[in-house]
Amino acid sequence: MPRPILSTIHTAALGHNLARVRAAAPDARVWAVVKANAYGHGIERAFEGLRGADGFALLDLDEARRMRALDWRGPILLLEGCFELRDLELCSRLGLWHTVHCDEQIDMLATHKTQLPHRVFLKMNSGMNRLGFTPARYRAAWTRLNALPQVEEISLMTHFSDADGTKGIAAQLQAFEAATHDLPGERTLSNSAAALRHGAAIGEKSDWVRPGIAVYGSSPDFPEHSATDWGLLPTMTLASKIIGVQNLVAGDTVGYGSSFTADGPLRIGVLACGYADGYPRHCTTGTPVLVGGVRCRMVGRVSMDMLTVDLTPVPEAGIGSDVTLWGQSATGVVLSIDEIARAAGTVGYELMCALALRVPVVVT
Ligand code: PLP
Repeated sequence: MPRPILSTIHTAALGHNLARVRAAAPDARVWAVVKANAYGHGIERAFEGLRGADGFALLDLDEARRMRALDWRGPILLLEGCFELRDLELCSRLGLWHTVHCDEQIDMLATHKTQLPHRVFLKMNSGMNRLGFTPARYRAAWTRLNALPQVEEISLMTHFSDADGTKGIAAQLQAFEAATHDLPGERTLSNSAAALRHGAAIGEKSDWVRPGIAVYGSSPDFPEHSATDWGLLPTMTLASKIIGVQNLVAGDTVGYGSSFTADGPLRIGVLACGYADGYPRHCTTGTPVLVGGVRCRMVGRVSMDMLTVDLTPVPEAGIGSDVTLWGQSATGVVLSIDEIARAAGTVGYELMCALALRVPVVVT
């Protein structure tokens, strides 16, 4: 019998979430962001649910090759662009759009001998201070690119640093607008938070949105809004079973470090899931876990292969009972990955991406 742990990718939920983002930015086309192996879902699996996207944005050429192997002939955008000349060659052959964010990438393009035209997204650093040309240097970069015979089309791009937070997008949107208002080309600005929270403000200034996390059913601005508030469904479930039961008496402790002490008789379920499966070790006593669809609390520390829950709310539970670590239970109860991420002091993105290879995955 295999160890009872399983991740399920929900194809219909991916399609639903994509439609939800579309509704928030109805005039824009959608780059579904599938970098980091589709946020841990697996590019091939995620593609099943995301066929309705207008294009796919990702990070490296291997991921782009995998998309083409799925027979996706539509647009693909390389979010950080090319690092070497041979990447440019492959980019041309795979028919990719690629980001240009620094002078060195323009220098490299200028040396690329090719019959195949390049289509690029010129990235502005409008305040994120990660990749891109500052507004003051943007036009010069555009002019340089525009003069290259290798470049057929230039589109315009920026990325918001605080679309999910209190600072919002106004200053960056204004900087982008001021520097680009008279430049031709399509625009792409919004990640999930920008599309869902600021879709109306961005409106016709964006031809393409670039949602990632919302497509994967996690709220971009949790805890201000939950995924349910945004109408998003979980796309990844991590499930396990109870493999051991212990009956504690007052004063007994649980797990490494004896960090939890029972203050009376307590039934504890031991689950086949630990940090080596991708469950965050930073979660401690109180983190919710569903046992048979009923919310219980984790107690003690997460071990490499196991964690422990207080079975008080489910006296009928025992060895073999179904457990949901995040996602949706067999009875349809949802435990958002955002709640678990918050308990661990991180975000849903990290948990999805960190799902361990040893966890078997099925697609529904
Ligand atoms: N666009 C760019 C340039 C990104 O780096 C990312 C993700 O980090 C996204 C879009 C998607 O962001 P999100 O997953 O928050 O929607």
